[in-house]
Amino acid sequence: MKELLRKNIAQLKPYSCARDEFKGGNADTIFLDANESPYSIENPLNRYPDPLQWELKEEITRLKGVAAGNIFLGNGSDEAIDLIFRIFCNPGEDNVVAISPSYGMYSVCADINDIEYREVALRDEFTLNVDDIMDKLDDKTKVIFICSPNNPTGGTYRKEIEALLARKPHCIVVVDEAYADFCPDKSVRGLIPQEPLLMVLSTFSKAWASAGVRLGMAFASEEIIGVMNKVKYPYNVNLLTQRYALDLLRNHKQELDEWVDMTIKERERVMKEFARLPICQKVFPSEANFFLAKVDDANATYMSLAQAGIIVRNRNSVSQCEGCLRITIGTKEENDALITALRPLSIYTLHTTHYSLK
Ligand SMILES: *Cc1c(COP(=O)(O)O)cnc(C)c1O
Repeated sequence: MKELLRKNIAQLKPYSCARDEFKGGNADTIFLDANESPYSIENPLNRYPDPLQWELKEEITRLKGVAAGNIFLGNGSDEAIDLIFRIFCNPGEDNVVAISPSYGMYSVCADINDIEYREVALRDEFTLNVDDIMDKLDDKTKVIFICSPNNPTGGTYRKEIEALLARKPHCIVVVDEAYADFCPDKSVRGLIPQEPLLMVLSTFSKAWASAGVRLGMAFASEEIIGVMNKVKYPYNVNLLTQRYALDLLRNHKQELDEWVDMTIKERERVMKEFARLPICQKVFPSEANFFLAKVDDANATYMSLAQAGIIVRNRNSVSQCEGCLRITIGTKEENDALITALRPLSIYTLHTTHYSLK
């Protein structure tokens, strides 16, 4: 792993904050070390939070079976993605490889950091060929991104990821599992103890029903997590977020599980109903909380739905997703409204009504 680090990062002496230098204390301890206010309208928000979020990580360990030293927490998984670039990729020099179509954040982060972004096109039916990835690698490749289940296509790649790891590419392999809570048996998180270059991303934003909170996770070797902790902002996860997440995991786990079960059941039902719509050409298999569907005219269908007050994601302009909409699974009522709005549509009604794309 060390050889993959940027030189400046390998040599970095991290900022040492007050909470790193003295740990512990009790209710009687007098803290005059961090220039905090002794006053507060809500205790202990006047104090800096735990920079490494140990209490929350222990709760995540109970849930995910990953040791606390193998967990990084950040401001959404986007923070972890950004850190990966800043830790491993030399601007103007290195490259990363990612499947396509996939999540847009990887290429945006690559552009921001002036890193070449090499796309591996998925094959028919969005299958992944491991040779296609291996062919793109060279000695300047620092990271491979594989999103599984993939956004926006919905499929998983557990077997392909195992085959890729078996070929020992000399780079970090990031598996983005933002949606794996909807198909836990497809997660590769369990491989981390034997795969020193594997990183798995997870998030509170989807199955954990907390997108507004901004809390993401990365699981990897202690060595990688140690570097991420050195490079991140010292107090990157605020106290309100840590407190919220602790309460969520301690007191609302059963609701979260029920919501995931409901979403999966609804996904199966809505996909079947969608496939029977006159405008539907194809529904792609999904293991996430959304599905991709090809329709007769994606732009006109999108506009028609928007006029009915239903917003879906138009993927028509994404390579290999021409004619496709990505549809998130909502509540039963929301899903029924979607199907009801789509049922009367046909190529004929779409083309005789003028939906303008402003
Ligand atoms: C939604 C999503 C995320 C989550 O990002 P956060 O910053 O944690 O909200 C990550 N990866 C993919 C592929 C996603 O679709």
